[in-house]
Amino acid sequence: MIDVAIIGAGTAGLTAAIYARRAGRSVMIFEGEAPGGQIINTPEIDNFPALPGVSGYEYANKLFEQAQEFGAEFVFDTIRKIEGSLEEGFTMTGEYGSTCEAKTVIIATGVKRREMGLDGERELAGRGVSYCATCDGAFFKGKTAAVFGGGNTAVEDAIYLSEICKEVYIIHRRTEFRADKALADELLTHKNVIKKMPYTVSALHGEGKLTSVTVTSIDGKDEELTTDALFVAIGLIPENGVFKDLVELDESGYVIADETCETSTPGVFAAGDCRTKDVRQLVTAAADGAAAAIAASRLSQSL
Ligand code: NDP
Repeated sequence: MIDVAIIGAGTAGLTAAIYARRAGRSVMIFEGEAPGGQIINTPEIDNFPALPGVSGYEYANKLFEQAQEFGAEFVFDTIRKIEGSLEEGFTMTGEYGSTCEAKTVIIATGVKRREMGLDGERELAGRGVSYCATCDGAFFKGKTAAVFGGGNTAVEDAIYLSEICKEVYIIHRRTEFRADKALADELLTHKNVIKKMPYTVSALHGEGKLTSVTVTSIDGKDEELTTDALFVAIGLIPENGVFKDLVELDESGYVIADETCETSTPGVFAAGDCRTKDVRQLVTAAADGAAAAIAASRLSQSL
């Protein structure tokens, strides 16, 4: 039986793997997609202590390598079922049939981008509608793009796209950005960015590929914007449904755990963006990974 099973290989999960391996525990880490998590899509990280300007991709790769060097075992599968208890151990089953028995579990599943819920959104995804500017922005070089949202992701996306696209609309439902002031100020220096605020995206148009969007102002006026792409950056949602019978979730679906990362179920910990918390940042995800791994390592050693 594995000492510590970790679900999710983002910053929290990979940091947890390093700490648990350094504590001498056996570690199996499950990841359904590429390792690295959300940060992979950030072009430049400016606020991680002592690493100014590092790219998200480089950061995530280094962290992945570090966890491998410490001997964490990786399984690329999405956990679909988990049951058990601290007394009998936990059993996990993946979508592609992988299984694992573990004394303790760290849930580090992060969050995924929120969808708009508009007609045609799913059909036009990958055909002009995108949730990742750094992944798909290059397809729209020299063209017109729009970004929907007002947080750090949206403003970073708009800055990035303004450097490769002819013009960029940023559509946000309020008159002020939620993004950090430094980013919002930087955006103002990019002269090909056109602000549509306070507006929301209310309809998508295009047969087979996006050609325009309808934006609606706060006082109900519609306007059609011709654009080749719409990058959706309206926040994040957790994907913790699979754990709902194992641990307590809050009303938004985040795992309830405090700074100690302990959940309502003994032996199960939650680390990083997937848990209830105020500040979802790289540095707090790493901190959670350490806290959860230290607690899980101590517990699994005592069994
Ligand atoms: P945020 O939750 O910070 O922002 C989401 C934005 O989308 C807000 O402006 C919000 O509007 C808007 N929004 C939410 N729901 C809707 C909706 N249904 N319709 C229209 N607009 C909507 O998400 P982000 O992805 O930007 O960031 C997530 C976390 O990651 C944050 O903690 C952020 O600070 C962090 N991050 C940090 C970075 C950095 O430090 N460099 C880079 C990227 C992300 P409103 O403002 O009205 O609520």
